[in-house]
Parts: sequence; structure tokens; C-alpha cells
Amino acid sequence: MFEEKLLKKFMRPLLSLQTSVLMLLVTLAGCAQSGTTGARGPTAADDSLSEQTVVLISIDGFRHDYIELHGANNIAKIAEQGVRSDGLIPVYPSKTFPNHLSIVTGQYPSKHGIVDNNFYDTERKQRYKMGDGAKDSSWLTTLPIWNLAEFQGVKAASYFWPESEARINGRTPSYYVNYSTPAPNQQRIDQIIAWLKLPAEARPRFVTGYFSIVDTMGHQFGPESIQVKKSVQYIDKLIGELWLRLQTEVEVPVNLILVSDHGMSDIKAERMIDVGQLPVDSDLFETQNAQTRFMIYANDDTTAAQVDELKAQLEQLTHLGFWIESEATLAELGVTAGPRKPSIVLATQAPVTFTSRPPERRADGGTHGFHSNREMDGLFVAAGPALASGVTLPRFSNIHVYPFMAQLLGLELMSPIDGKADVLAPIVTLTQKNQSQ
Ligand SMILES: [Zn+2]
Repeated sequence: MFEEKLLKKFMRPLLSLQTSVLMLLVTLAGCAQSGTTGARGPTAADDSLSEQTVVLISIDGFRHDYIELHGANNIAKIAEQGVRSDGLIPVYPSKTFPNHLSIVTGQYPSKHGIVDNNFYDTERKQRYKMGDGAKDSSWLTTLPIWNLAEFQGVKAASYFWPESEARINGRTPSYYVNYSTPAPNQQRIDQIIAWLKLPAEARPRFVTGYFSIVDTMGHQFGPESIQVKKSVQYIDKLIGELWLRLQTEVEVPVNLILVSDHGMSDIKAERMIDVGQLPVDSDLFETQNAQTRFMIYANDDTTAAQVDELKAQLEQLTHLGFWIESEATLAELGVTAGPRKPSIVLATQAPVTFTSRPPERRADGGTHGFHSNREMDGLFVAAGPALASGVTLPRFSNIHVYPFMAQLLGLELMSPIDGKADVLAPIVTLTQKNQSQ
């Protein structure tokens, strides 16, 4: 969804994937020994958290069970050497931008500001759409970890991450790439390795990477499709190559963290609710169709009675397959009051979604954005010289990844966050030796 323009380009090379996957597996098998003996450059000498590097890779829409379901053998091997979680629980809503921002801020969306992929702000009287932070960083209301790193003298680099181009407090990562730049997936791996081979004074210690194809295929064909399987195996091959090159080409101790923002559920064309049927007066309300949710924002002059009247009308239509979120539920999901909180939120559960498309343009497929459930769980795998080996963790919320990364990088948190450092602290095997650095 985040990168649909690449879809057409990708479909053709996908057909020849099997050959290259086979070749890589042969290569990896030959190198397995160096991987398991822990040969990671000068790791032994650099056993301080002040020297550790973190590479954070997001595979958008990689559901927690895709490793086995779709044969991601390289990722499975990395998990065996390090830590794997039974699932990474997304924040609400389980959409791409809110979750990527929660991973890099440790905050719920109401606090970091990116409350959905697209939303309306009743004070600004403006709509946010994915990536608008690059033009106006005031959409983001807290610091991503690359800013925390740069403020504390640690260089950061990003080969894509949602809102990594936003200039926050005057800063971006030292190295970043505009998302509109054509960037073959292989090039992203090559650049990450190249950054890690820079001289010490120029070398980043925090690097992000991002791949969208698994999500794109999930939306188009559904989570259990052959197209998702092929895209998982394609990205798994790249991750296998990255892991191998981190061991053999890079001389600094690198901890690789693989995450995804959410999972994927099947949706059905015949279960789509036409938003045109909803009796919302556009003179009184702004609306935003978010597929798994329909958000309704009262205008300044709209009265509480008018909101209640609309709610009562919508209650009569819940047989279509949606429900109205209660204030108590929204509070439990971390939604706090503010100009980005809709007056009314309608919600669905898979395979039901909202649509504005005419019936002939609706198709079965997959989506995410639903309340947290097993199918919405994402991926968490981490391995490297600062991390425990052969550990499986129960599923945990993605807000805890930020304090974990800060710990690995030896960064001090500069403000309170929602994530808790003690959730992942047990898998960090190194201690902070050089507090002064
Ligand atoms: Zn996503």
C-alpha cells in the first residue's frame, strides 16, 4: 500500500525468484559455519554498549507466522542465533504509519501524532496523508530515535522509514534517502553495508531499512497467497545476504533487528460496506475512510446534540457489519483527547471493511488496521553480539522496541515514553561499561 507504484515493476522479476533463492541457500549453507561460530569482526574487543551498532529493518506487513507459513529460512536461522518473539503487537490502529512511528518513538499514536495513515486535524483544519511530515514536520509531536541518537552524538542513517525525511528540531538522520527516489531492494542492502564500512567518524551506529513488497502482495492477494509466499522468500533472500555481509564485510559489532508494523487478514469484496450508505451530513462533519475504520469529525459549529443524533442513526445501521467504538474502548486503545480524535469512530473486523468503490471495482484481498488480534501481530527477530542466543519471547507491544534500541546504543532517554525498558532488557547480554562515553 505504501509503495504501490513499484508493484508493476516487481511482478515480472518475481517469477525468476526461485532460482536465485536456491543459489543463495547454497551460498548460505557453505557459510553456515562462520555464522554459528560467532565470527563478527572485532566483537570481542568491543564488548561495550557504547560501541554497538543497530540495524533496524522493517518488512512491512510481515505477519508473525510467515516465517514458517512461507518458508523464510534465512530469517528462521537468524532467529535461532538470536531472539524471536511469538509476535510483535501493533498499536491501534494497526496501520503502517502509526506503527512505524511507535516503533521509533516508543509512544502511542496519540502522543507521536501520526494517528492513522490518513487523518483530519480539527484545529489545523488540515488533512494528513502518509509522508506529509517531510513537508511539515509539525505533524510529528515527539522525537524519533534517530533524533535522540544524533542529539547524543551518534550518527544515524535511514534507507527509508516512514517520516525519516521529516526535519525535527532542525535535524534529520545524517544520511537518508527521499522515498520518491527509485530504489531497488538490492540497492538498499548495498547502501546499508556501505554506510557501515565508512571511516569511524562518518559511520552511522543506527541504521534503518524498509521493504514494502510483502505488504503490497498481502493487500492484493491475501496473506496465504502464492504471491505473498514468493515476496516473503524474495525478501528473506535479501535479509540472508545482509546478515552474511554483516558478518563478513563489516568490522563493527552489529545487532540486526527485524520487525514489521502489523500482520494481514483476508478481506472479502462481498462484505464491503459502501460508505455512501452512511447518513453523514458533510455540512456538519468531516470524514475519513480508513478501510477498517470510518472516522467522523464534528465541525466547530456542530453541536453535541447533532453528534448524538448521528450516532443514533448509525446505531440503526450496524447490521451492515460495523460497530461504533465506545469512549472506554478508545481510551483502552491509547486514544486520548485532542484535535486528531474523531467524534465518532466506526470499526469493522475482518473480512468486513469500508469502501467507496463501486461494486465492480471491489476485490477480495487482504488488509490490516483492525483491533489487535493474532492475525495483526507482526515480526520481531533480533540477533547480534550484544544479544542473547536461542531465546523465544512471548508476544509484546512494539512500543517497547524503542527503549531496547536506546539501551543497545547506550543512549539516554530524554523524555518519558510509553514503552518499558524492562520488557527487552533481559535479552541484552552486555552492560554499559563506559558510562562516560
Ligand atoms: Zn504496513
